[in-house]
Amino acid sequence: MPHPDPFLSYAPSQPGSPWETYIAQVERVLPYLGPLSRWAETLKRPKRSLVVDIPIEMDDGRIEHFEGFRVQHSLTRGPGKGGVRYHPDVTLEEVMALAAWMSIKNAAVNLPFGGAKGGVRVDPGRLSLKELEKLTRRYTSEIGIIIGPHQDIPAPDVNTNGQIMAWMMDTYSMNIGATATGVVTGKPVNLGGSLGRVKATGRGVFVTGREAARRIGLELQGARVAVQGFGNVGSSAAELFGQAGARIVAVQDHSGTVVNDGGFDLADLTAWVRERGGVGGFTGGEPADAEAFWDLPCDILIPAALEGQITLARANRLHARLVLEGANGPTLPDADDALAERGVLVVPDVICNAGGVTVSYFEWVQDFSSFFWTEDEINLRLDKIMVGALRRIWDTADQHRITLRTAAFAVACERILQARAERGLYP
Ligand code: NAD
Repeated sequence: MPHPDPFLSYAPSQPGSPWETYIAQVERVLPYLGPLSRWAETLKRPKRSLVVDIPIEMDDGRIEHFEGFRVQHSLTRGPGKGGVRYHPDVTLEEVMALAAWMSIKNAAVNLPFGGAKGGVRVDPGRLSLKELEKLTRRYTSEIGIIIGPHQDIPAPDVNTNGQIMAWMMDTYSMNIGATATGVVTGKPVNLGGSLGRVKATGRGVFVTGREAARRIGLELQGARVAVQGFGNVGSSAAELFGQAGARIVAVQDHSGTVVNDGGFDLADLTAWVRERGGVGGFTGGEPADAEAFWDLPCDILIPAALEGQITLARANRLHARLVLEGANGPTLPDADDALAERGVLVVPDVICNAGGVTVSYFEWVQDFSSFFWTEDEINLRLDKIMVGALRRIWDTADQHRITLRTAAFAVACERILQARAERGLYP
């Protein structure tokens, strides 16, 4: 029986949890790791997990407490790297899985980072700007004992953005008495942020999607694309697919589902979301039932919201030929098998959405050298790294006749465990 309390055990607290999904994904690659598999247990437990209390004086004078987390899953190949999520459902166990996926992602793309992730259990929509700033600053101070430009470098994730990164950078800098721009990435460009970072994850989804489509003979011109989540990742990916001639025919977010068989006017949709906070009610399309989203005829599906969205039942109903995982962990393991059996190609999260961390890596390098690149240079380098990483994973998948996900995990786990074996065990 899995232990019910994630604080007391690394066993998943419930079936289908993100941590359970991650563990199942690691188990699948053990046969491909040869002698390195003796180190595999190190992948199944985070190196370091920090749980912090964040007391905030609210605007009305009440003191509210929030729970925050920072998990460093692996520091074997370099400093920790991974985003910070603000969401009412955040748990330690979820952050553990997200941190572990960052280890795999950074290794799959061959970035010199380990894997980490952070989160605060909060509905940020309920906070005023001042409360949000206080929460961010106190959270940063609390996790300040384990983050740093050489230790662990946070970045934006769900419900966090450049402003929150600016507050994190400022708080950390105040605490150490020096400006440390390299402590976070995804900062505003004026504060040492990188050009191209905001849209980098969506761009990576597009680049890997373009390459995968080419390999399976799917024309992007006129292709029908359905997107779940129209935030940073979903909207940027949709924009690039739109520019490549694809039609965005369905979009779903927390506020509703809208469809337009002729393809949305993305500029109108983006303006609507900016004004009203979600796609729900968008007049440039028809409303649809949330569950019907998974039955809609489309060629490409981009889950770009939260994890666990593609269940077995939904996988069996999808029409798409290609699934591009913009979100982290959107497909449950049994759904993954069903999609493989049905011949639906899944470009897994650990490569598909690695564009963000790749440009974060560029940002970190630029901060250290204090020499900043042009947006063209950044996009070109991003394209090259993503195409190269996908090629290596595709070759591994062909060689062993395995899915791209198992291949990506095999490539990544081999790199992490090779580094582990070379470093040796301390003491
Ligand atoms: P975001 O906060 O900008 O957008 C999240 C989107 O998901 C919003 O459109 C929201 O309405 C939607 N959403 C939330 N709950 C939903 C629900 N129950 N049903 C349908 N839609 C829902 O976040 P983001 O940065 O775009 O991140 C989206 C996903 O991409 C996450 O899984 C995140 O971990 C992953 N990711 C983000 C980045 C990045 O650079 N931002 C990088 C890699 C992976």
